[in-house]
Amino acid sequence: MIHSQNNQQLETRPNYPLPPNYPLIDTHTHFDDFVFDEDRMELATSAYDSGVRHLLLIGYYAKYFDRMLQTQQQLTEEAESGVAVPKVYLASGLHPAYISEHTEADLEQLAQFLQTQPNVAVGEIGLDTFTDDLKTEQSVAKQKRFFEAQLDLAVEHQLPVLLHIRKAHAECLALLKKHNYNANKLGGIAHSFSGGEQEAKAFVKLGFKLGVTGQITNTNAKKLRRAIVAAVETYGLQCLVLETDCPDMTPVCCQQGDEPTRNVPGNLGFVLEGLSELLKVDEASLAKQLWQNSCEALRVDWPYPG
Ligand SMILES: [Zn+2]
Repeated sequence: MIHSQNNQQLETRPNYPLPPNYPLIDTHTHFDDFVFDEDRMELATSAYDSGVRHLLLIGYYAKYFDRMLQTQQQLTEEAESGVAVPKVYLASGLHPAYISEHTEADLEQLAQFLQTQPNVAVGEIGLDTFTDDLKTEQSVAKQKRFFEAQLDLAVEHQLPVLLHIRKAHAECLALLKKHNYNANKLGGIAHSFSGGEQEAKAFVKLGFKLGVTGQITNTNAKKLRRAIVAAVETYGLQCLVLETDCPDMTPVCCQQGDEPTRNVPGNLGFVLEGLSELLKVDEASLAKQLWQNSCEALRVDWPYPG
């Protein structure tokens, strides 16, 4: 989502109960963010201990692609030395909310990065007209141009896309259709889904899974909760995946005080718990289904542990 980098708390062991423990895939993190620099390994270990087996690092600025790579290497070395941590995968892309800063050279760099590094997806990409600055004609035109260029790269590399869409669901659907991006073939996720019932169904119909974050644990998020329930009623549990979007989208039970509390991959179990309560599906079978869904969305074949 949008990263408020200055006011994240560095509290790592807040007082909340342990999440349920099932094998999970965190389909969207910014675990390479500097807010994790001081305790990343400790957090990776506790994420593994609470069930997280795979996690994706998602791109937003070209200048951080190398940081994603270093984080992946750091965690891979840790795993090779015998420490149990989640396996890390890359998905690089240029985030629409930072469109004013992206350049043609960044697109070149993305093309290069996709060429030279194994990426499981292109993301996060899409359209965002949430703020006045993002809503201007100039911003929207540039966002569309970069979105289309990145869809081209995804098709070229036959990779799924991870979509970031805020207040632009119809425009995004139109571009996907115009572009012949076929999520039924390539996979893909509408990350941190925030639209209504109709939009939810439209994305699922196109072959996308809906990314569910800690926001689902917020009982005031009525529109979101209704949209997820409606999508499941029409398309079944197959249409959902889980994500933390850490350091953002902290589940309600983990929030401390009025300041934004840093979200961590180990909180993913709370998202499972919230979804299980909302859908009235037991956690064990939901976790298994979500694992399969994540593999399908990313077109990977990761065996379910245990
Ligand atoms: Zn994100």
